[in-house]
Amino acid sequence: MDTLLRSVFHCMVHEHDPRLVVIAGLVCLIGIFASLATAQHAAREVGASRTRWAAVAVIASGCTAWTTHFIILLAFRPGLPSAFDPLLTGLSLICAITGIAAGIFVAVGGRRKTDHFIAGVIVGTGVAALHYVGQFAYLVQGKVEWDPRLVVLSLAISLPLFGLGLLSAADRNRQIRMLALPILLLAITLLHFCGMAALRFSHDPSYSFPAGAVSPAGITPIVFAVAGALISLAVAGWRFEVEARRRLRRDRSRLRALADMALEGLIICEDDAIVTVNSTMEAMTGHDAATLTAMQASALLPGLDIANLPDREEREARLLAANGQLIPVRALRRQVELGQRVQAVIAVRDQRERLRTEAAMRALVFKDPLTGMANRTRFFELLAMHTKSKRETEQSFAVLMIDLDRFKLINDTYGHAVGDVILCEVAHRMRGALRRGDIIARLGGDEFAVLALAVENFADAEALAARIIDAVSAQPYLDAGRPLFLGASIGLKWTQDNSEKPDDLLRHADLALYAAKEEGRGRTRRFDARLEERLRESHAIEEGLRVAIAKGQLELHYQPLVDARTGRIVSAEALVRWRHPERGLIPPAEFIKIAEETGLIVPLGEWVLHTACREAASWPGQVKVAVNLSPVQFREPSLVSAVMSAMGAAKLSPERLDLEITEGVLLGDEQQTLDTLTKFSAWGVRITMDDFGTGYSSLSYLRKFPFSTVKIDRSFVQQLPHDAESVALVRAIISMTSALGMATTIEGVETAEQFRFAVAEGCTSIQGYYIGRPTDGAEFGRLVKRGAIIAA
Ligand code: C2E
Ligand code: CA
Ligand code: CA
Repeated sequence: MDTLLRSVFHCMVHEHDPRLVVIAGLVCLIGIFASLATAQHAAREVGASRTRWAAVAVIASGCTAWTTHFIILLAFRPGLPSAFDPLLTGLSLICAITGIAAGIFVAVGGRRKTDHFIAGVIVGTGVAALHYVGQFAYLVQGKVEWDPRLVVLSLAISLPLFGLGLLSAADRNRQIRMLALPILLLAITLLHFCGMAALRFSHDPSYSFPAGAVSPAGITPIVFAVAGALISLAVAGWRFEVEARRRLRRDRSRLRALADMALEGLIICEDDAIVTVNSTMEAMTGHDAATLTAMQASALLPGLDIANLPDREEREARLLAANGQLIPVRALRRQVELGQRVQAVIAVRDQRERLRTEAAMRALVFKDPLTGMANRTRFFELLAMHTKSKRETEQSFAVLMIDLDRFKLINDTYGHAVGDVILCEVAHRMRGALRRGDIIARLGGDEFAVLALAVENFADAEALAARIIDAVSAQPYLDAGRPLFLGASIGLKWTQDNSEKPDDLLRHADLALYAAKEEGRGRTRRFDARLEERLRESHAIEEGLRVAIAKGQLELHYQPLVDARTGRIVSAEALVRWRHPERGLIPPAEFIKIAEETGLIVPLGEWVLHTACREAASWPGQVKVAVNLSPVQFREPSLVSAVMSAMGAAKLSPERLDLEITEGVLLGDEQQTLDTLTKFSAWGVRITMDDFGTGYSSLSYLRKFPFSTVKIDRSFVQQLPHDAESVALVRAIISMTSALGMATTIEGVETAEQFRFAVAEGCTSIQGYYIGRPTDGAEFGRLVKRGAIIAA
């Protein structure tokens, strides 16, 4: 090996004319530049022009190899006369061109690294063929001997180097690409000098050159003509390059001008290097353009895999600002061709404003604006989230539904502004009663809800409810120094099973709240099996009631009202009953409320109106009929037409119809109720305030609405005439109503004593079991037609 290397070294240093070797090197470099420049130009062109320039590039590279080789051959001084075989000389050029063309073909078609390596080996083979065919074209006057070891060595070293050369030329990393040229030069050098060192000549004066052989002096102009052509090609290629650069600069500056108008930040980059940015980008990051173009795109958008970002698909990302802040952005990448170079434009949209608006919108959607608490939507969401949670500590919890007692009255009496201030104070006090982590929401109006997590048992839940009620009601609220009192009722659902549906939880708590209010307000009622049972029953009643209305299972009973002075029947109250096929006669107490909750009261009420008017029309002319109307019916705009059509169908004059309403009606939409009642009384229909004394019994209601009669509630009559308080109350009501010019009816009169008391106190009419129990329509009809005087 040592001797081999020594002979290669000897060949390089002593057997070559160094000046020509340098020229060969220069020509080689210029040729490579010319080939690359034309190849790049081909890449920028399209169609036939592209193919032409690609061919020029391949031929140029073949010529480069060929001229380099032959200049070095001319530099070779074996010390013997030499000549060139023209045919083989031409063939060597063809070998170089085909080898390089084939190699490039494989390289362009291939994607994998092995493809590029193989392409390099093919190019190397072409160059080696050029070398050895060229060697055979080189004739000397003497005997030629080959050292096969050096031939093998030349191939064994140079071919892999050619492979490596192309491999690095195709690499994405710029630094590795820069290695391609020295590697290829090394491959060529080693191939050449090993190949040359393999030759041994011994002089043989008897040898004469074949006819047609060209002397070195003859081939020199050809070689230098080709070298000249390469030089002019290099100049042309250089000019192409300059032109392309100019175009790229122009395109970029045009694009930058355009990009500066964009609201989005734009980055143009080549691979990872940032080439240009727009002014929005500068403003967004706080960096100037110079700093940005010195950065890598991947550093500016950390965590975003820019190279593998699909074209035109937006991605969430973070943009690194000058102050170190990470700005939330959306990034979009698009491949563009700029100055015929493939570059990526990355559009970056600032998301801060959008996120801020979204957060504000969320707050708006989920927050009760008055109290700042969560609203119904949010509460439901939190409840749903919680019921999905699998954490063991959260499996027993409570849902509390809170309703303020008498709040409506405060709102109506003092106005909404005062109501709002008090609601805020209530919210504040309730918050104070909660434990850490409890969630409170205002569901609407004066309704609140609490989700209390990790509540071990019922007792704890009830203690929390008691604290809330206490917080709300213990101290008065002050309105301009005047104390106002408020209470709260709570429905409580406690569970150990967080797989219950949020809907059910709320419904159960609501049901318990309903029961709490029914039981007298200001208290907590828990949801339990009994309520559940009641719920089931009410479902059954609801179903049955639908059938009852459709199948005519309802009937009306009539209870007489007599004139306090004459004892004659002046009116009858229509009271509905349900004749159940199995259960017999069901009193209204069992189904009216459910009918109200389900809306069935509307068709039921219409039936009552029609039936009562029809039956009353057959009674003697002076006897009126009283019909009870539910608050729910007043919410229906159809009520007016229903009353009208009932009277019309029965041909009952409006003066004979009396509508009984309770305070519940007045708690709804006041203006609408007033309009409706005013219409009725304008027709001549009488309106009675029923159950007077049980509710808020506000005097202002009596003045505001067109009542003709006030009916004193049964509960005050029971204690008469011995209970002093009841006596005083009934007296007060009678004097008050007569002062307002209204009639007074007293209901629930069961004894002669009570009857006498009512007469003595000046009641207008009297109703009760003492006078008569409700009877069915047929019987009442007979009674009233006899014109009986019931009591006197
Ligand atoms: P209400 O309007 O207060 O009707 C009077 C109730 O008192 C009737 O009960 C009647 O039977 C009962 N009553 C009458 N005199 C006496 C008495 O001397 N002593 C006692 N202890 N009770 C007496 P009823 O028929 O069970 O009706 C109960 C409630 O159902 C009614 O109370 C009314 O609010 C409602 N209701 C009845 N029919 C209808 C209807 O057609 N529509 C609507 N919306 N509600 C109705
Ligand atoms: Ca009534
Ligand atoms: Ca009543």
